[in-house]
Amino acid sequence: MARYTGPNCKMCRREGCKLYLKGERCTNGKCAFDHRSTAPGPHGAARKKVGDYGKHLREKQKARRYYGVLEKQFRAYYDEAERMEGITGTNLLILLERRLDNVVYRLGMAESRKEARQLVLHAHFTLNGKKVSIPSLLVKPGDVIGVREASKENAKIKALVEALATKTSPKWLDKDVANLTFKVAALPARDDIDFEFDEQLIVEYYSK
Ligand code: SF4
Repeated sequence: MARYTGPNCKMCRREGCKLYLKGERCTNGKCAFDHRSTAPGPHGAARKKVGDYGKHLREKQKARRYYGVLEKQFRAYYDEAERMEGITGTNLLILLERRLDNVVYRLGMAESRKEARQLVLHAHFTLNGKKVSIPSLLVKPGDVIGVREASKENAKIKALVEALATKTSPKWLDKDVANLTFKVAALPARDDIDFEFDEQLIVEYYSK
């Protein structure tokens, strides 16, 4: 399965904002972007005028990197968003938000989406009682996510569970921390996505 393996902090500097890709490091004062926010590369510090195409491209890349999706798959999400009823840009963000790795992250069961993806790949979770290992799987209302019995003794999972009660989750996800079961109460709404995206710019990027 293809995935990006380069430096994460470079992506934040390239997009000109914090994408929160490294968990605790992003908020504990060690964030690379807080210390140097210029674009990477020898001419990164030089002011550059960004044209329309550049603005559209950057917004698309920002969303793609935020959710940890490669170009081909991101394009497939866009195509699906376009076929759905409603506003294409909103549909796109909601599709991305419904990915199982994102849901695990939003529940607080991982420090970052990258870690969530790895935990899903290692089959630590169940979906509706069945073992799952596909990070791109899209959840739907009524789905129940659980932690596999065998994984409850895993040191990493134990540490994450201990911290779970202190973490808040979006209102479309119900948490039963005592039983380690999490229910998808509804589809996410645009307001549930607490990151600044101008999704219309992404639509314009693909509409050219
Ligand atoms: Fe981005 Fe986090 Fe790296 Fe900061 S620490 S630059 S937010 S990935």
